[in-house]
Amino acid sequence: MSDCIFCKIANKDINSEIIYENEKVIAFKDINPKAKLHFLIIPKKHYNTILDIDDNETINELLSAIKEIAKKYEIEESGFRIINNCKEDGGQEVMHVHLHMLGGEKLKTSII
Ligand code: AMP
Ligand code: ZN
Repeated sequence: MSDCIFCKIANKDINSEIIYENEKVIAFKDINPKAKLHFLIIPKKHYNTILDIDDNETINELLSAIKEIAKKYEIEESGFRIINNCKEDGGQEVMHVHLHMLGGEKLKTSII
């Protein structure tokens, strides 16, 4: 997707603060952090939404990234929150699937 900002980040065509990367997945700091730690974890391959992911390896790598990042930032014990905004009602603004990973402090209560 040539005009997708997260594809450009995955391809290193635009700069981001990358905190984790493997063959399938990349994670970087959110430009507008909503918590002390706020990362975005994305598959390098473009999928519009979480509903479009169709390969198990990508799902596994997303979960591995969560675990590795939790270890790296020492939030395994304190915990964190994973959020996926899906489509319009979910408030998805960037149409390249991404998991928000928030932590590093006690987060405000969410709606669920
Ligand atoms: P969402 O509303 O779930 O689609 O979230 C999109 C997120 O992407 C927001 O939290 C933005 O702050 C973040 N964002 C947008 N552009 C960039 C960028 N160039 N680098 C890092 N984060 C970004
Ligand atoms: Zn994309």
